[in-house]
Amino acid sequence: MNRPKTKELFDRISKIVPGGIHSNIRYVEPFPYIFEKAEGSKLIDVDGDEHIDTVINYGALILGHGDRRVNDAAKNGIETGLTCGIESEFSIAAAEKFNEIVPCAEMIKFSLSGTEAVAHALTILRGYTKKDKIIKMEGAYHGWNDSVIINVHPDLEKAGPESSPNKVYDTQGITQNAKNNTIIIPYNNPELAEKAVKENKDEICALLVEPVVFNSGAIMPKEGYLKQLREITEDNGVPLLFDEVITGFRLAPGGAQEYYGVTPDIATFAKAMANGFPISAVAGKKEIMEVCTPGKGTMYGGVYNGSQVCTAATSATLDLIRDGEIQKKLNESTSYMTKRFQEIADDKNVKAQLIGLGGEFCVYFTDEEIVDYRSAARSDKSKSIQFHRNLLERNIYTYDGFLFHNGICAAHTKQDIDSILTAMESSL
Ligand code: PMP
Repeated sequence: MNRPKTKELFDRISKIVPGGIHSNIRYVEPFPYIFEKAEGSKLIDVDGDEHIDTVINYGALILGHGDRRVNDAAKNGIETGLTCGIESEFSIAAAEKFNEIVPCAEMIKFSLSGTEAVAHALTILRGYTKKDKIIKMEGAYHGWNDSVIINVHPDLEKAGPESSPNKVYDTQGITQNAKNNTIIIPYNNPELAEKAVKENKDEICALLVEPVVFNSGAIMPKEGYLKQLREITEDNGVPLLFDEVITGFRLAPGGAQEYYGVTPDIATFAKAMANGFPISAVAGKKEIMEVCTPGKGTMYGGVYNGSQVCTAATSATLDLIRDGEIQKKLNESTSYMTKRFQEIADDKNVKAQLIGLGGEFCVYFTDEEIVDYRSAARSDKSKSIQFHRNLLERNIYTYDGFLFHNGICAAHTKQDIDSILTAMESSL
């Protein structure tokens, strides 16, 4: 595709911004897209081409680009003249709505990004338990903090035995302390979760899980798995931390915890909560959350936390998604895509499957059942990358990485979804 203006801008940005992107995942070959405008389900790049967006800000858009109702609320926040660094009625209303909608949210505190929310949650849990270690699942991503940027997508050659993975670091710069403090287990294996919790219960502040592992595509919990994690952690006195940065407000108004009927002790949220405005949250049991009350010993800070604009956007978004209709529609649309995709793949004799929930989905090039990171990583990487490049050529905005979660939001029409499927058919 000829994109002269994008190329010119990319050359400009690359001189002063490493890699030409402000978040490394945004890079696509041969150079990333640069956008001018967005509306609903569509993105228009600086060369004037329109794309159906299936990245949807990595799951952050639940309503769609530029939703007028959310934008008007945010404008109202701006027009009060209030800037960050103080509380306002906006942050109070948003916290109250959170408390009403999310099962575990006896108390809530806002922050800015998913990475920050996870960092805050871990500090709170370390303050509460006086223990340092965490258990994390292989294949899950929880932001780029030291303690969690481990075994996100390890090279299978280096990952060691499935039952006791070698530690593989997804970046340089992780401190030795963090390396020592993170215990890695596979997802969807309750026996190994129980073993790890029992063996380490005197040293761990939490068992951390992405309830659905969207960060390795779309790995669903086996029937009863999250309930088993709840029982194991409860029996051993270890807090259960759900990272609901993607699942929150998307699977059901109350997130994965409502959808699966399993209430964690504490959870993190971001993305869909404000339809893409930069805000996140830590929410949990009063007893745990209270440790970050001023004077109780655990730090919680941030100039921009609970800003007027972002909490106004949060309130408006939560009002629009709380009756569950959007989540119902997204779950139905994802089921439709799974079914249609399978017909297309079978017709073309391609071993591939589309798995998804709540509007987030992943195409895996394998017929092996996807139950954990290893089974996902065994799917065909080069076919997956080529498939996503083919979609990009057909004006479906995606990312050409492996094990990537694509998504749709309320703004995607049936026609958009069928256009995505048609593009998938010719991209296989
Ligand atoms: N947790 C999960 C489950 C995520 O998907 C992400 C972002 N992809 C994060 C944490 C980090 O969020 P952010 O990029 O806003 O820091």
